[in-house]
Amino acid sequence: MNLETKNWSIEDAEKTYRVKRWGNGYFDIADNGDLQVTPRFDEPNIKINMKHVIDEMIEQGIEFPAVIRFHDILRSQVSLLNQTFRTKIEEANYQGQYQGVFPVKVNQMREVIEEIVQAGKRFNYGLEAGSKPELIAALAYNTNKKALTILNGYKDEEYLRLALLGTKIGRKIVIVIEKYSELVMLAKLAQQLNVQPMIGIRTKMMVKGRGKWESSSGERAKFGLSISEMLNAVNLLKQENMLPCLQLLHFHIGSQLTDIRAIKEAVQEASLIYTKLYHMDVPLKYVDVGGGLAVDYDGTQSTSDSSCNYGLEEYVADIVNGFKQTCDLEGVPHPNLVSESGRSITAHHSCVVTKVIGEIHPGGAQYATDKVDEEHFIVSNMRFYQSDITADNYQESYNDISQLKEQAVQAFKLGILSLEEMAKTETLYWQALEQINEELSKLEFISEELKEIPEKLSSQYLANFSIFQSAADSWAIDQVLPIVPISRLNEKPTKRCTFVDITCDSDGKIDNFIGEESTANYIPMHKLDSGEDYYIGMFLTGAYQDVMGDMHNLFGRLNEAHIVSYDDDPNDFYIEEIVKGTSVDGVLSTMQYTPAILAQAIKKEIDKEIVRGKIKPREGVQLIDFYEECLQGYTYLKI
Ligand SMILES: *Cc1c(COP(=O)(O)O)cnc(C)c1O
Repeated sequence: MNLETKNWSIEDAEKTYRVKRWGNGYFDIADNGDLQVTPRFDEPNIKINMKHVIDEMIEQGIEFPAVIRFHDILRSQVSLLNQTFRTKIEEANYQGQYQGVFPVKVNQMREVIEEIVQAGKRFNYGLEAGSKPELIAALAYNTNKKALTILNGYKDEEYLRLALLGTKIGRKIVIVIEKYSELVMLAKLAQQLNVQPMIGIRTKMMVKGRGKWESSSGERAKFGLSISEMLNAVNLLKQENMLPCLQLLHFHIGSQLTDIRAIKEAVQEASLIYTKLYHMDVPLKYVDVGGGLAVDYDGTQSTSDSSCNYGLEEYVADIVNGFKQTCDLEGVPHPNLVSESGRSITAHHSCVVTKVIGEIHPGGAQYATDKVDEEHFIVSNMRFYQSDITADNYQESYNDISQLKEQAVQAFKLGILSLEEMAKTETLYWQALEQINEELSKLEFISEELKEIPEKLSSQYLANFSIFQSAADSWAIDQVLPIVPISRLNEKPTKRCTFVDITCDSDGKIDNFIGEESTANYIPMHKLDSGEDYYIGMFLTGAYQDVMGDMHNLFGRLNEAHIVSYDDDPNDFYIEEIVKGTSVDGVLSTMQYTPAILAQAIKKEIDKEIVRGKIKPREGVQLIDFYEECLQGYTYLKI
């Protein structure tokens, strides 16, 4: 047994990485220390070992970083949401039905949309679009005539014409009015084209969502009609004899709603608006509660920005019971319920897997610290402190070396310390810090001041990926995404780490992690073993992260492996599809370069050098072949 597997169990790993807490039943740690996936609720015996998936990908020559997509998780999430609504509706004796839609903006990938539509077919689960391109995709893919297609976002005449095209081919298209002028345009068009659209109105809610997206509601919200605008809309539709078209009331108070109380309040407000409109003879049939169902990214079950203090059951129960209560009090029929959960449907199904390819240690390289004659006293003193650290004096030593280090920097700036003396002082300082930290690790309690020591000593692990491509929200809004080693989880992680990516951007780093209590500035990882590749996974990237990334530094989209579970397979899965990531010529083309012209330019230069006799013809051919090969290659490092 490895030394480091003693005093360390799978339970300790679970505590460190909280896999089960954020894993939603899909992820946990196998007895052998590998991360494993249980992609189906109905087949708990199907377990997919992530290491096996990676091995098979390597066998097939797929380069990392790569996205791994578990199609079964997507299907499971669609079923879970729909089943939960059905169960709660039945339990509450609620008279309306649930007719959910998936908001395409959360993950527009064709394979994702196809899988969701297919898995949702038996529930008449539909799609939501917020722009013309999304609508064009939704029209082609949401072919179930019983499922809704909900249209949000600002609309021009073309958008409305596309929507009415959908109505003409028998789809249940609901055009949600975000702005009064859209309704005027729609009324005119509908009459011109002689169609009866289904119309929804989005109400500007007074209740504020909580969390990063709270500006989605309130008076200054970007979308929706105020109460007076809604009444004007009703009057306009009456005038035009189109009141029966107004069938849906919509609200959306923000994404990742961390606090269940905001949802309860929104349901309360919206249900009152619904009943009051109903009393005004508006024949509403549906209420759409929007998105916002949160994902517990950091596994704390709290109201932190990357978590939430409720689960799916509570969320659904609060919506169903909230509407039932208000409607019963007001003597109004229960509306059919629509929700637009995107984050919660897709977050779990995909992850980014990559290798740690290096370590940047704060102390840098170690320099020989041998004593020489007439060395500066700063070096001698540092050597003395470094050699004299004990369990009794570590606090004092820390103060001493910190002060001495400052003096050294001053002395160096004044030209008093030589380069060599500075190198020795630094080396001794970092050695001392390591020893003090060693003493600290034996303690139960560490004072606030000394807590900075492990942070100072944390390493930066260099990972082969771009945060701008693969974890946009980690960069933009400090979203926590779980990062876990794929293997060795039965071994104590002895390194404190932050991560840096391979972009030439100092913002290309991750320093916000799942911590023991809430979040932490570093995460424990294993020592890199020179002989073995160290794979890590960044999880819960299926919502937004998958599709919002950019090509900073011209790092393109990732290779993808689509995994489908298969009970008869010895490893319980097969790779259904490989989607190649962007090649170098691909990213260059999007920036208006023509790859063939680039290659020609290089060839010309090489030919010139051949004529000048600087390059041999044979070598010249190899060089141009190499350039062209790189042009067709992957944008990430081949390490
Ligand atoms: C973004 C958005 C959603 C999706 O929200 P999630 O929090 O991801 O479920 C739903 N409805 C509307 C109107 C949106 O803008």
